Amino acid sequence: MRAEIIAVGTELLLGQIVNTNAQYLAQGCADLGVSVYYQTVVGDNESRLADALQIAKSRADLIICTGGLGPTQDDLTKDALAAFLGQKIVTHQPSMDHIEQVFGSRGIHMVESNRRQALMLEHSDPLTNDAGMAVGIALTQDGTHYILLPGPPKEMKPMFDLYAAPWIASKMSGVHPLFSRMLKFAGIGESTLEHELLDLIHAQTDPTIAPYAKESEVTIRITTRASSQAEADVKLEPLEQEIRSRLGDYIYASVDVPIEQEVIRIMKERKLLLAAAESCTGGLLGHMLTAVPGSSAVFRGGIVCYSNMLKNKLLDVPMSILEGAGAPGAVSAETAGILAEQMRLKADTDYAVAITGVAGPDESEGKPVGLVYLAIACKEGLPVVERLQLSGNRDNIKLRAAKAALYQLWK
Ligand code: ATP
Ligand code: MG
Repeated sequence: MRAEIIAVGTELLLGQIVNTNAQYLAQGCADLGVSVYYQTVVGDNESRLADALQIAKSRADLIICTGGLGPTQDDLTKDALAAFLGQKIVTHQPSMDHIEQVFGSRGIHMVESNRRQALMLEHSDPLTNDAGMAVGIALTQDGTHYILLPGPPKEMKPMFDLYAAPWIASKMSGVHPLFSRMLKFAGIGESTLEHELLDLIHAQTDPTIAPYAKESEVTIRITTRASSQAEADVKLEPLEQEIRSRLGDYIYASVDVPIEQEVIRIMKERKLLLAAAESCTGGLLGHMLTAVPGSSAVFRGGIVCYSNMLKNKLLDVPMSILEGAGAPGAVSAETAGILAEQMRLKADTDYAVAITGVAGPDESEGKPVGLVYLAIACKEGLPVVERLQLSGNRDNIKLRAAKAALYQLWK
């Protein structure tokens, strides 16, 4: 099935809002096994919307529109589609009852135009809007499927997931559903990972392999079509095992969770406590850890020792190491090691991690942007220190340093 996504809204054309709906729908279609060939953006203008529908109809089996289902004069997607298909517009009574009830219960006067949100095409299926008032529409005419969804993402997303996606799937009968597995990687960049799997990626037909990177984590999804889970497993298992045999050290999960969540889960299970001394990441690692519900059972807290003064006063790094001719400096293995060790002692934890580096844009201590030292101290032995040369801008380097620290902890 070939699809086209049409986002309707003059604000999109003016650049006032970003077309996140198209991204969401494109991913949703990919998950369904529907190929999106085109994405279109058109303003709130009936004749141009008719043109867009005409073009889309010539090259797609499924046309998904978002936006313009609201009550105002510029919301005309339903009118445009009705005119385009030569269908009458009718009222969807349950939606009308819902709208009247919402206004009634709030005790506010309902402007007549709100009734427009209950309209649908004569020969269409309603798509329930659990988060708003405008009813969505799904219909098939002359072999083309049409779906109209509202513009606000908080309405559009659940409507797509709960009602539109199953409707689309029901039109794809005869085509086996998609089954996929996910592998989450840390401690390895997307290009290295791709390089290691290049032969598999080039040879892929069924199952398919799709790597994508987001926020310093790489995800691989392997997907196949099958008539049952068991049949899919037979196809997916050998490929997963092959990937694991090459890169298993970097795979931290087979579900979509961030690595900080895995670190907290594992440390909680083993009843281990953690603290962090952060210089160049400025508390980002602490933020990521505390974003995980239940992290208080593991993470005691930390110190943002951004200045040499605090590295010295709070975590006892000697000034002779931090500054002066010939000193290792704040960005050094020595400093990272002491920070981690002292942090662990002061917080009385099983582990402590320290991050010190040059986030940029300018170099520091004559050291290049992206140079980061990570140290992990534990109860026995000396801290383990790792030197990294990270790339990217200031934000990327901070994020990559924090993720690298999490990967070290996870290992
Ligand atoms: P409403 O009842 O709010 O008028 P609607 O279905 O008529 O909903 P629009 O008027 O087109 O939708 O858009 C309403 C709001 O939804 C926009 O102001 C914008 O915040 C958001 N929105 C619309 N289209 C998109 C899009 N493609 N991507 C992201 N957000 C969008
Ligand atoms: Mg609107």
